[in-house]
Amino acid sequence: MVEVSKDVLKSLIEGKLPWPDVKEITSAPIKDSDRFDKYIEILQERVPWEDRILLPIGPHLFIVEKENGERVVKCECGHEFGDYRVNWKLKALIYVRDDEEKLEEIYPGVWKPDPEIWEIREFYCPSCGTQLEVESVPKGYPIIFDFLPDIDSFYSEWLGKPLRTSVEFKDKTYEFIKEEWEG
Ligand SMILES: [Zn+2]
Repeated sequence: MVEVSKDVLKSLIEGKLPWPDVKEITSAPIKDSDRFDKYIEILQERVPWEDRILLPIGPHLFIVEKENGERVVKCECGHEFGDYRVNWKLKALIYVRDDEEKLEEIYPGVWKPDPEIWEIREFYCPSCGTQLEVESVPKGYPIIFDFLPDIDSFYSEWLGKPLRTSVEFKDKTYEFIKEEWEG
């Protein structure tokens, strides 16, 4: 169990906490559900839309519950990436740094990854252009699905507040790819 101190919560809300720490806090058992509620409340006040935030999955990215019960990934600006069980990165704008020149822009100077074997992928929101995630991987490596949280278990088991609907906890990325590209 992770103890979430007031200071940590404050940094979390102000966006000062490195994202891996946020991920640890929101994906680990939290018994202090009031504190979590407060965190969500503050995030909710900061976004321009009404859909209920279930969980932040990045500094500008959230899993939300829409009025019809659907759970989708949504950017701060309102852009929706669809079902949260499909890797949202597949629907983002992707910029790949895979040669010396493109790598030089972010690694000026001597050392940089070898573009023969390594690439850096940047994922942007198609509507507002915010950079949402960066991954550094060997060339040809499948796009990483960073975080598929079991939201129903998180709400019912850890927060003790089950959500009004439940969905099957399943990575649906492959189904999406099949539909998009094969059929
Ligand atoms: Zn956006």
